[in-house]
Amino acid sequence: MENVVVVGSSLAGLRAAENLRTLGFGGVITVVGAERHLPYDRPPLSKKFLAGEWQLEQIALRKPEMLGELNLTLRLGSPAMSLDTVTRSVTLGDGEVLHYDGLIIATGASCRPLPNAPALAGMHELRTLDDSLSLRADLESRNTPGRLVVIGAGFIGLEAAATARRAYGCEVTVLEGLAAPLVRALGPELGNAIAAVHADNGVEVRCGVQVAGIEGNGTSVSGVRLGDGSLITADVVLVGIGVVPNTGWLEGSGLELRDGVVCDATLNTGVAGVYAAGDLVRWPNALFGEEMRVEHWTTASEQGAAAAANLLATSRGEPATPFTTVPFFWSDQFDARIQYLGRGSGDDEVRIVAGSVDERRFVALYGSKGKLRAALGVSMPKVVMPFRKLLAEQASWDEALAFAAERAG
Ligand code: FAD
Ligand code: NAP
Repeated sequence: MENVVVVGSSLAGLRAAENLRTLGFGGVITVVGAERHLPYDRPPLSKKFLAGEWQLEQIALRKPEMLGELNLTLRLGSPAMSLDTVTRSVTLGDGEVLHYDGLIIATGASCRPLPNAPALAGMHELRTLDDSLSLRADLESRNTPGRLVVIGAGFIGLEAAATARRAYGCEVTVLEGLAAPLVRALGPELGNAIAAVHADNGVEVRCGVQVAGIEGNGTSVSGVRLGDGSLITADVVLVGIGVVPNTGWLEGSGLELRDGVVCDATLNTGVAGVYAAGDLVRWPNALFGEEMRVEHWTTASEQGAAAAANLLATSRGEPATPFTTVPFFWSDQFDARIQYLGRGSGDDEVRIVAGSVDERRFVALYGSKGKLRAALGVSMPKVVMPFRKLLAEQASWDEALAFAAERAG
């Protein structure tokens, strides 16, 4: 293997390129990116960067000189348009055709659009650096704090709501169709515990409401109409209703696409020499005995490194290693640091094992069929993080409760 193409110039793609070099690959690595920016980190886009506290250089994933040391050929600002696995080539938007011996697909995901939303000034989504700059400019530009309505009480919505309230003093309403924020990740009871943190800080989170449409006054957004006919006035509207994996360019390639790129346990796409990593990967995680697609930072980084290692190993005739992980994410909202390990579901038994919801500091465990499935910590990092080891060891529910009791004692 002399020539590797990495499509996607963000977290998973960069980690793949870095690990190829770390493991001794001396050939050509071409990194293709739809965005014109050098690789940058997304988490600050809804937090310190959106708040105006951090600037561009603080969100670079690697300093320019460190990127230089990797000796990458960068093709930025020109997206991959198609993949041909027979001729082993990727065609870019500007017509260039890149041939590869090995390929890593890391094109991530894009915001799910709100159906029938009009194109009005003040309407935003938040995925890219340009999105964050545009939202930040709109929040900053008001003489008096503006009124922000957020559609979707997921991660984007809640983090941006907290930033807009704290940094810009906005009046903020968050709208969610389900019974609680973050309900799929945390369940209703603990989702409502997060809503309480927002209420404490003056953000209104309204659950169980349907958005009927967006209202404008000609060129700018003026409000959000709800299903019951009422109107919530708004200067700025942020839509945060989930993401769609960026797999359009892979249509017709023969790869299996199903809400992501379907991979085997080693992150291989079913085609020799073609691996995938990051938000768009759907793979069987043996640790949890289920197929999953994870949309969080740590897994994207780990998968980038693992895909590179497996590509290199198989090119040398060595076996590939199955990729397993305990999914992890963090989210900062006001003073709450939320940390979540594992994979719970709405049907799990939930037990608070440290702190309390009333104190806004707690650790909760999620269990199912006698096994520990997940652990959630709110502002208790030292208590929650040790549960990662238990999840990796597939601890039973009783073992997890005993571990929690021992630490509490
Ligand atoms: P992406 O970061 O989506 O990168 C994919 C790249 O591929 C993009 O640059 C895209 O432009 C490019 N691309 C797309 N199509 C093409 C194409 N056809 N050709 C070439 N290039 C293409 N996770 C956490 O765990 N904690 C957090 O606090 C957190 N905060 C976040 C805040 C925000 C605002 C966002 C948006 C995400 C946050 N995440 C967080 C999630 C985390 O950033 C993602 O899981 C991670 O970025 C996924 O990395 P990726 O490389 O797989 O995909
Ligand atoms: P998300 O976390 O999937 O949440 C989207 C929310 O919007 C869900 O509650 C969803 O409910 C709701 N929703 C969907 N359609 C709706 C509609 N028509 N009207 C009102 N609500 C609707 O996605 P996100 O918050 O948009 O975040 C985007 C991506 O960035 C995700 O991949 C996320 O993981 C990532 N991110 C992660 C972090 C972090 O880890 N800290 C921070 C920011 C962003 P349903 O469940 O019913 O669809």
